[in-house]
Amino acid sequence: MSKACDRVEWDFLAGMMLRLSFHADWVVLILRCVCSVSYSVCLNRDMSEFFVPSRGLRQGNPLSLYLFLFCAEDILSAKVGSYPSFTWRSICGARDLIVEGVLWRIGNGTRVNIWNDPWIPGKTDNRLAFTDFIPHLSSVNQLIDSSTNTWNKELISSFVDEDQLKRILAIPINRHKLADTVTWKYEATGEFSVRSGYRKKLVVDVLCPLCKKEPEDADHLLGSCSILQQLWRGLQINMNPVGGTLNFKDHFINSFLTGDNYNKQVLAISLWALWNRRNKWVHEGVSFSLQETVFFIWGYLQEICFCYERLKIPPQNITEKFWSPPEYRAIKLNFDASFQSNPKTSMVAVIARNYKCEVVGAITYAVEDVVDALAAEARAWVPVSVMKLADFDRKNWLQNK
Ligand SMILES: [Zn+2]
Repeated sequence: MSKACDRVEWDFLAGMMLRLSFHADWVVLILRCVCSVSYSVCLNRDMSEFFVPSRGLRQGNPLSLYLFLFCAEDILSAKVGSYPSFTWRSICGARDLIVEGVLWRIGNGTRVNIWNDPWIPGKTDNRLAFTDFIPHLSSVNQLIDSSTNTWNKELISSFVDEDQLKRILAIPINRHKLADTVTWKYEATGEFSVRSGYRKKLVVDVLCPLCKKEPEDADHLLGSCSILQQLWRGLQINMNPVGGTLNFKDHFINSFLTGDNYNKQVLAISLWALWNRRNKWVHEGVSFSLQETVFFIWGYLQEICFCYERLKIPPQNITEKFWSPPEYRAIKLNFDASFQSNPKTSMVAVIARNYKCEVVGAITYAVEDVVDALAAEARAWVPVSVMKLADFDRKNWLQNK
């Protein structure tokens, strides 16, 4: 019972028929047919009691398929809208994919419209590109000479060019006059499969959603995207000219590192602002303009400068002091220990520097049977203290100069 037509909500079906301008009395009649269905399940030859479903179309009823198409009609003709939910965007994306992948396989040609339907074989351009429109022709069977069962070349060549003519003449004509069928052009068998649909969608999806020209990889996001480049031109950013063996990513890093503080800020904010807009566009369908983005970035920069001024914070430079020299004629010892769990050993390194910052000695040694890293640090203290007391037993030190 798990088919698409079993999931049709009756309210939705009724609303759909009313929107398609069916008379209210007709809608009531149809709903009486649909809602009066009841089921019984046969399990191990025993029939269950009858139960009434709360949704779904009567199975085996020739009307059900048409009712289902009413519901599908809404989805096929609906627009994405300006603020679609994620689910609705996904449905519309899948719908576009299916509509784009559909190709008619010509049987007797009676169901296929010459001018509107996709019926010209090939991966792309499946709708007829005509040079002349002939109003009295509508279905493809009118282009077939039924006595010889061949294409009417003379007639067809009167409204298409040489290329289209060749593609049409190459379509084999079914001798048994079978019905026309809808096929899926991305699969060799012509049947839609989730796999080929997914693959096709992947090819579409890896393209940058902003410029739709190249795959959206790091190289593209950090430089080669034409939308990003337009944005940078709008911001009057000085990028080093691309050249040599650098790819766009490395070129970006290069420009970023060599640029002044202002350039760095603009680059960072512009990437962030564009990525934010790209996500809004992809996930919520919210479009944006480059002009608005440029103004946003300038506004943000001003805000940062304002904050720095208010807080009197100079632009950050990493000049923090990690080490300062000892007092006059004193020696400063710095030490550290590493710890290796198997076997439980530790390496200790000690460096001694005088008040002139000169290294007066250094030593490394191994300690065995250490419990853990903390113990290693603690045990490093012992020889250091001993050395201090011994007034630097110079024999143990590797003299520096
Ligand atoms: Zn792009």
